[in-house]
Amino acid sequence: MNIQSGAPADAAGPVAAPNLASELAAPTVSRAYRCQCGRPVFLRNSQCLACGTPLGYVIDRLGVVPLAPVRGEAESKGEGEGDAEAKIDGEGAGASEGECEGESQDAEPDTFTVFGNPDGKRYRRCANLLTAASCNWMVPAPREGDDPSFNTDGLVPGYCLSCSVTRTIPDLSLERNGELWRKLEHAKRRLISQLLALGLPVVGRRADPENGLAFDFLGNMPGAPHVMTGHEHGVITLNAEEAEDAVRERIRAEMREPYRTLLGHFRHEIGHYYWDLLVQPTPWLDEFRALFGDERADYTAALQRHYEQGPPPDWPNRFVSSYASMHPWEDWAETWAHYLHMADTTDTAMSFGVDATNVELASDLFTTEDLWQPEHPGATKFLDFLNGWVLLTNVLNELSRSMGQPDYYPFVLPRAAVGKLQFIHCVVTQQRDTTLSAAAAPDVPLPPQTGPAASAPGPASVAAPAPAPAPAPAQSQAQCQQQSSPQS
Ligand SMILES: [Zn+2]
Ligand SMILES: [Zn+2]
Ligand SMILES: [Zn+2]
Repeated sequence: MNIQSGAPADAAGPVAAPNLASELAAPTVSRAYRCQCGRPVFLRNSQCLACGTPLGYVIDRLGVVPLAPVRGEAESKGEGEGDAEAKIDGEGAGASEGECEGESQDAEPDTFTVFGNPDGKRYRRCANLLTAASCNWMVPAPREGDDPSFNTDGLVPGYCLSCSVTRTIPDLSLERNGELWRKLEHAKRRLISQLLALGLPVVGRRADPENGLAFDFLGNMPGAPHVMTGHEHGVITLNAEEAEDAVRERIRAEMREPYRTLLGHFRHEIGHYYWDLLVQPTPWLDEFRALFGDERADYTAALQRHYEQGPPPDWPNRFVSSYASMHPWEDWAETWAHYLHMADTTDTAMSFGVDATNVELASDLFTTEDLWQPEHPGATKFLDFLNGWVLLTNVLNELSRSMGQPDYYPFVLPRAAVGKLQFIHCVVTQQRDTTLSAAAAPDVPLPPQTGPAASAPGPASVAAPAPAPAPAPAQSQAQCQQQSSPQS
């Protein structure tokens, strides 16, 4: 493995590997981030361990960047822009507001710019930096003269985009839940950073009460029904016990699944969300039905059949997983999750200089005949990406076996999945083109997360475990009630 080294990154510019997309034909961005001192830093870092420079995830840069404190900010509080900041704090940061504010003044200044860009946009730490969620994302700090689109509309005041879309957290009065919440948020931040890089819309319910996204992390309560992981009308529910390794591993074994992770859950459920958003109300729907089947098939009956009779015997030739054979919606969500796995892993590999061009081939590669649209202008590039993935996972699986670990990618992609993956790739890239052209005017590839007319100040749901009932658009029925334990 060759980790990129050399001169410190130009801190004013995106800290990204050059020509990644062209080298790789992978759809997203670099996962290798660097401090201003040149050392590699990682997605969850909030400070460089080598030189002490503060770090944070900045959406405008789609990555973790070194930060420079804005000196004198604390002293000027209470006048001018300080008013705005005080208002933001007072509006809804809730119980954690006081302690975060107090500690952050001791620990570090309130406001930052990206290192090397002192006149650039200003950011503050997400209010969850110091909670169990330990969030290292940055929140825009608006000031006079800033780009009008550069505001916090739609965010829970004081909180970053990722934390703002969490509507319910586990009950923190139970000690173990802090750790579970941290793992959940960590996995969700990786998910959301990828969605942003792909140009997919990430809009919370404050900005879009009808189609916005919300996450409920719920614990099982005595006497209450078992919390089911699933998606409905933009609300993704995860049973918080999935964050407990021993519990999740037990369920994985009982369900005979080869792979079960928090990130996998998130990637699957967000697939349902984007189906509602990007496929169901669009011309993609007919082609979806041709490839995945008719989603109007009775979901409840399909679910019951799946758990009573199991998958069809020939599922490995037709689907990415046995669960995908249950219903066209689940086939979509499973295939979507694989697409995100493949894109992120390939990007990460390439970001660190790992490529699979010298790999001895242990399996057949896919050909244009396997594609959905072999004539598509991007077809060859997509095929390269897919075959690069096959080569890469051959190596990664062998590496895992060398350590006695389960296979890194414990799946065999059937040829029938290739067309579906290309279809998903086309849906994603079309959306990305739309997003990027909409954001072309500002100098940042900012997804449309700032909807018009943010809703009235409400309670900071991040700090309030009691969920408000979601307004439910009546367009689609409940979907994806994924079993978390075998049906008794
Ligand atoms: Zn450093
Ligand atoms: Zn946050
Ligand atoms: Zn599902």
